[in-house]
Amino acid sequence: MNISASERLWAEAKELIPGGVNSPVRAFGGVGGTPLFIERGAGAYLFDVDGNRYVDHVQSWGPLVLGHAHPKVVEALEDAVRRGTSYGAPTPLEVELARMIVDCMPAVESVRLVNSGTEATMSAIRLARGFTGRDKIVKFAGGYHGHADAFLVQAGSGVETLGLPDSPGVTAAATKDTLTCAFNDLPALADLFAEFPGQIAAVIAEPLMANMGFIMPKPGFMAGVQALCREQGALFIADEVITGFRLALDGAQGAWGLDPDLTTMGKVIGGGLPLGAYGGKKAIMDKVAPAGPVYQAGTLSGNPLATSAGIATLKTLLEPGLFAGIVDAAETVAEGIKSRAAAAGIPIQVGQVGTIFGFYFLKEDGTEIADSASAKLYTDTTRYAEFFHMMLEQGVYFAPSQFEVAFTSAAHGERELKATLDAVETVFGRLTKR
Ligand SMILES: *Cc1c(COP(=O)(O)O)cnc(C)c1O
Repeated sequence: MNISASERLWAEAKELIPGGVNSPVRAFGGVGGTPLFIERGAGAYLFDVDGNRYVDHVQSWGPLVLGHAHPKVVEALEDAVRRGTSYGAPTPLEVELARMIVDCMPAVESVRLVNSGTEATMSAIRLARGFTGRDKIVKFAGGYHGHADAFLVQAGSGVETLGLPDSPGVTAAATKDTLTCAFNDLPALADLFAEFPGQIAAVIAEPLMANMGFIMPKPGFMAGVQALCREQGALFIADEVITGFRLALDGAQGAWGLDPDLTTMGKVIGGGLPLGAYGGKKAIMDKVAPAGPVYQAGTLSGNPLATSAGIATLKTLLEPGLFAGIVDAAETVAEGIKSRAAAAGIPIQVGQVGTIFGFYFLKEDGTEIADSASAKLYTDTTRYAEFFHMMLEQGVYFAPSQFEVAFTSAAHGERELKATLDAVETVFGRLTKR
């Protein structure tokens, strides 16, 4: 039997790189089989090293809202790279990107650029602790906020998929001040505040849980979290690393009228290059060094390549009508999946907001997934794995885990949406009957 180029590379990668990958979910642990090694991306498509083409609904896990290798982003990067890749000194690009973020995100008055979403969230909780003089933070079970020690407690897909409850190497001291609470359970959050009066520095939340599958907040839940924080003197941190420039151009905070004290961002704002950011109220951000005493730094922070890609991405995204088109595309796919599942008699829960969508195969009809516990109980991950591999055969690439979301980009036109939905229809007709 001929082995494919991906299989050959996979064997070599496993020798050289832990688990063969540089980020765990890429290893197909949740669906089995050999990961595809990618040769290039163009628009809505990925091309693997064996010459296969896929409509890509992963989009590098969110950043590529314009699609792969968008000409404006490529042009900005070509121009930037000729002028040097990093100076370790201020640049006009940082000011321009900061201005765009502040203009778009209503709760962000001042912003610090970093190199990843992980850096953004870890810096935001340091700042929240420094600002409030309190130690404890609250996160929601199944919420993912990057891989910093303090967050590796009930931390969403990467960890769920591997079945690791927590990570060895994270000391009890590093997580003793991390409290967790079920998503969509406001009374439970109120109980935590009652149990630890005056000790909670911040509550950090993905406004839409997008790393445990797709879980919408119940109406009023996020506003309730914010109100509890205000009442208790804790900061409300919106982790908009996925939702920023994806849920809406003004993030979940704009779309849902939230006013977080701090906001963390990443993914889209780097246009596919490593870039994250944290920002918020000026009075709080002014505690960050060198304006204030809370230390945070980075050799490559705000580097001209990442900022150029981010600026080109946001500028293009802000062109009239462009974002609405990407939202329409997400709606079309989500609705199409829902109706085809109904026709095929497949129990499913589909969600979509902005350019983000997700679906759970349910073990049975009538169950509702509203938090990470119900996601674990009611989802049919075996069915997802079967679906995933059949979709690959049909030339459509979804995330290799049931507990992730999917995306559309500006490059997903009618042809690509039809290809996705035709494949869904074919695959739904072939899934093992339950
Ligand atoms: C991806 C993600 C992060 C981590 O960002 P990295 O750039 O992968 O470090 C943090 N929070 C949320 C909500 C994310 O989706």
